[in-house]
Amino acid sequence: MRWNDDILVIKGIGEKTAINYRRIGINTVGNLLMHIPRGYDEFGDIVPIRDASPGSVVIVTGVIAARAYTRKVRNMTIVSARLRDGADSISLVWFNMPFMASKIRVGTYYIIRGKVSVKNGVKEIVQPKLLTKEEYYNNRYKLMPIYPLTGGLTNNAVAKACIHAISEITDITDYLPERIISKYNIMPYQKAVKTIHLPDSRDDAGKARKRFVFDEFFLFLLMLKRMKSENSHILTQRNYTECKECDMFIKELPYRLTDAQVKVWNEVRSDMLSGHVMNRLIQGDVGSGKTVIAALSLLLNALNGYQGVLMVPTEVLARQHYESLSAMCSGYGVDISLLTGSMSAAEKKTVYELIRDNKTNIIIGTHALIQEKVKYAELGLVITDEQHRFGVNQRKSIVEKGSECHTIVMSATPIPRTLSMILYGDMDVSVIDEVPKKRLPIMNCVVGQSYRSAAYAFILKEIRNGHKAYIVCPMIDDNEESGLENVTDYYLRLSEIMPPDIHIDILHGRMKPKQKDEIMDRFRAGDTDILISTTVIEVGIDVPSATVMLIENAERFGLAQLHQLRGRVGRSDIRSYCIFMTADESPQIMQRLNVLNKSNDGFYIASQDLKLRGPGDMFGVRQSGEAYFDIADIYNDADVLFNAHEAADHLTDAEADAIYDYIIEEGGSKNINNIVDIM
Ligand code: ADP
Ligand code: MG
Repeated sequence: MRWNDDILVIKGIGEKTAINYRRIGINTVGNLLMHIPRGYDEFGDIVPIRDASPGSVVIVTGVIAARAYTRKVRNMTIVSARLRDGADSISLVWFNMPFMASKIRVGTYYIIRGKVSVKNGVKEIVQPKLLTKEEYYNNRYKLMPIYPLTGGLTNNAVAKACIHAISEITDITDYLPERIISKYNIMPYQKAVKTIHLPDSRDDAGKARKRFVFDEFFLFLLMLKRMKSENSHILTQRNYTECKECDMFIKELPYRLTDAQVKVWNEVRSDMLSGHVMNRLIQGDVGSGKTVIAALSLLLNALNGYQGVLMVPTEVLARQHYESLSAMCSGYGVDISLLTGSMSAAEKKTVYELIRDNKTNIIIGTHALIQEKVKYAELGLVITDEQHRFGVNQRKSIVEKGSECHTIVMSATPIPRTLSMILYGDMDVSVIDEVPKKRLPIMNCVVGQSYRSAAYAFILKEIRNGHKAYIVCPMIDDNEESGLENVTDYYLRLSEIMPPDIHIDILHGRMKPKQKDEIMDRFRAGDTDILISTTVIEVGIDVPSATVMLIENAERFGLAQLHQLRGRVGRSDIRSYCIFMTADESPQIMQRLNVLNKSNDGFYIASQDLKLRGPGDMFGVRQSGEAYFDIADIYNDADVLFNAHEAADHLTDAEADAIYDYIIEEGGSKNINNIVDIM
């Protein structure tokens, strides 16, 4: 079996299953082997029910004491049963699985796995899994990879396919020179591929992961280097002149620009007028007011007769920007359009024509902006907002749409300066280091599970006062890592706890764009009281009536991301609250989370995060859901980034050429394939 063979060569993958794999970009054996687990699960020892502590995932055994009990709440079926070991017992609760009532038999012995919680003082396990004796004893203490999945794929099937591929593959080679492997103590590629799927220990798995992190950084940096040498400091043919409308625009804003905004606007303006192509990164904390700088730049560009685009990562954000820019720019004779993937073909066609005929000056949208069909008449300025959410490919293709156009990327991700130097290479950097004054600071608290009912009572009180709430869970459903809160089960549980007149809704990244829009519209309109969401709400969302946020499993997020998340509240002059709930109250975790209590400064928070994370925190949840890299995390893997940077810098020309050849001819890993796309 070879790295570049189609996945159909793998035992157990037929035409039909292959479709599911292809949907997530797995077409070849190599793609499959580079489908890196997000973490590992492990069946530990059996715990007596008495010792099963709330918040932890446990394996308990016992006998079902009485017949399972079925009831209906709203339109949900709830089956419950009691599992008894000696004198102790625990409730088992299944939502919307009515068949469990007949499956569970009285007097039968079961091995159960699930997360312990407490309701009305009684311990329970919600959506427990039944394990057969074989399943449990054969797998005890083994590290079982947890793979990112999609509909139609099970973790078991992916794991089997990987094991089969590892035993059959014959042509894994390492493209890195031996010199680099030994200098930076990197795990050889062959070993890393095997280890990531079949690790002997967490330590081993961590080392294998670091190898792939190194590859991602290293190849990215090599690619940057090549791009840089090809196009540095281009003169623009376009002619920009100052226009007084921008000053009027500033005067007519309902607020005064902060000093930092004025400074950054001056930097952008003088770049645009300089006769050189602008290439600028604007960093500014959540709420520092980056949008207005984008609006000003787009206005200056439009009044000079050029088109400008503002590209954002989500449809929801695109619409939000479209509405606010339309309001801000009305009266200046510029036309603004919206272009997103979920628009109908006819709607899109209309916009394509406006763009082609230069009848629209500012276009706001998602990836749809870079589709083949979009032909710009006179593209002069490209702005990407929430930069960290875009892949390198997308960034590059939008710039290619217009030759020599001005580029601004905006990011709230506080990247330490040393890192941004590496990642953004030759970009000029502007920082909005100040947040508009008048706002009340958010009140924060970091709490453990015992605070849960108080938190719900507090949320309810805020809702009764006419405000809205967000609840953030790290996972979508229980297909993902167990033991972490997931949106789907949480919704079921919370619906039972909250009074029936409270409207609860859910939002996550696997929903269709239209559906997401509708959900956000309902929330914005005030029809939804509580929005349970994954981190999809992390970027840019602005719903000022939301005044409280509860973040579940706060221990599993990076501090910078938590800061970004809480930026969704505190967007008006009403006091806002953020509750960080942790399932792990160890001193290290509490110390780390308490940084958020003490500071509202994103840059400070990110720097502390780096300091307070131990090197053992390898598989900690990454700082941002879909950050720059597939595997690597620029914060947690900063050490590897520095190594990769040094290695890339010291590569001889011959070595560099060999690597480029390898990448182009051999295909290489999934990461390498990504890089090929943009070279
Ligand atoms: P971000 O930098 O996170 O993208 P936004 O541009 O969305 O921030 O701005 C957040 C909010 O602050 C918006 O409602 C905006 O109207 C407001 N805002 C921006 N600049 C100022 C300012 N100088 N004074 C007061 N409010 C401002
Ligand atoms: Mg923004």
